[in-house]
Amino acid sequence: MEQIKNYIGGELSGPISAAFLDNFEPATGMVYSQIADSDERDVKMAAEAAKAAFPSWSATSAEDRFAILMRLCHLIERDLDALAQAESRDNGKPVSLACAIDIPRAVANFRFYATAAIHLANESHDTVGRAAINYTLRHPLGVVGCISPWNLPLYLFTWKIAPAIAAGCTVVAKPSEVTPMTAFMLSKLCIEAGLPAGVLNIVHGLGPKVGSAIVEHSDIKAISFTGGTKTGEEIARTAAPRFKKLSLELGGKNPNIIFADCNYDEMLATTIRSSFSNQGEICLCGSRIFVERSLYERFKHDFVERTNALKVGDPRDDATDVGAIVSKQHFDKILSYIELAKEEGGTILTGGSVLEPPKSVGGEKLDGWFIEPTVIEGLPFDCRTNQEEIFGPVVTIMPFDTEDEVLAYANSVRYGLSATIWTENLSRAHRVAAKVEAGIVWINCWLLRDLRTPFGGVKDSGLGREGGFEALKFFTEEKNVCVKL
Ligand code: NDP
Repeated sequence: MEQIKNYIGGELSGPISAAFLDNFEPATGMVYSQIADSDERDVKMAAEAAKAAFPSWSATSAEDRFAILMRLCHLIERDLDALAQAESRDNGKPVSLACAIDIPRAVANFRFYATAAIHLANESHDTVGRAAINYTLRHPLGVVGCISPWNLPLYLFTWKIAPAIAAGCTVVAKPSEVTPMTAFMLSKLCIEAGLPAGVLNIVHGLGPKVGSAIVEHSDIKAISFTGGTKTGEEIARTAAPRFKKLSLELGGKNPNIIFADCNYDEMLATTIRSSFSNQGEICLCGSRIFVERSLYERFKHDFVERTNALKVGDPRDDATDVGAIVSKQHFDKILSYIELAKEEGGTILTGGSVLEPPKSVGGEKLDGWFIEPTVIEGLPFDCRTNQEEIFGPVVTIMPFDTEDEVLAYANSVRYGLSATIWTENLSRAHRVAAKVEAGIVWINCWLLRDLRTPFGGVKDSGLGREGGFEALKFFTEEKNVCVKL
């Protein structure tokens, strides 16, 4: 069985413990590879390799860093199909989705930051009247830590390491132990691209062992983390007294606000995607759908009909819309929320059940973790089902009468990651966008991203912003120099 090894100091190696964990395939429920069960000793080795590589990498010109990162882009593009298949096998998502979204976005991340690094300019300020100039110097921070989740494995992993490496930092990174395969494949591509040894070090293993050792390590100057709010809290508790720079991209419970004057067909098609893409396991999915009362019954009928038409099945089948849930543990969590919704008085309009094993394209048994896309109505806005992150193919729908009312519903949660607004009324669109508590708001669209724009949540959805030059600056130490003329 294939062993997923660490990538430390430019080499692939097993963990010091020599122990490996099982890696499951969500569609079959079977173990298909093994992952290094690393611990703080491997993190220490990785941090030493990163520290040794830092003087040379930070002194490498932005043009030379650009050239290596672009080579990596071409290699990821070359291996796109193999990476997409691996991502699907690890995560349960349709291969077609990984081919269209996840792997191309990993390429885009490296390309964006390879080019951004050569365009990053430092500011200068002319202090008129007191005859001085001020300028800002930026130096790469040093060794930094990147920790990413399982839902968009290579996409989010590279969204962190690309700006760190491009800025001249060296990295100790941990992908989710649930979906490690594409990060392992990336480490082989880094070797092929000629990335100098120690610039990127990938340590596989469990969060409480490897992740927390990264956060605690005294040579690691910054932590860029994407994952759940509870883990984010733990990381902040450890990192804050050590005065580490911190970027936290956390959970969400995003509202999708639909006014009666929207472009109906476009709204309906997009709302199906924003509810169930990637099995609803995208932090930006709209899991609470609020519909203006005059449109509610029509929407309910059509949305349920469209949901029923989604094909849940073998992730390798091109016709599949919704694949398998990432792990047994997460599958159980989603099912427990469907039970909770019933206890709280919700009516299941469609779905709500475990799916019989679907037919596989290869003939083998798909005994994995499949849940029917589920639509629930009749729940109050403040019940647990409507307040807590479920992170699966489960949405609630609910009518509203006024703008103020829907804003109160939308803003009632502890989270503030994203929101979607559907209306053709320009003034209302801008008014609601300004008042909804979210770090990113989409009007008449969803998941349309420009990598130059700041990305991140408000409230308990996170701290700091990723994207654009901000992410490059995050990985630098800034110094102001004031010169009297
Ligand atoms: P987790 O918080 O469980 O895990 C995220 C990463 O942190 C994993 O690599 C995990 O390792 C690691 N980890 C776990 N415990 C610790 C610890 N004590 N110290 C350091 N690292 C640790 O999140 P999930 O993987 O379950 O991902 C789903 C969550 O991510 C959802 O809440 C979702 O909303 C959020 N998310 C947010 C996004 C955003 O941009 N705001 C984007 C995508 C997802 P291991 O896997 O071994 O446990």
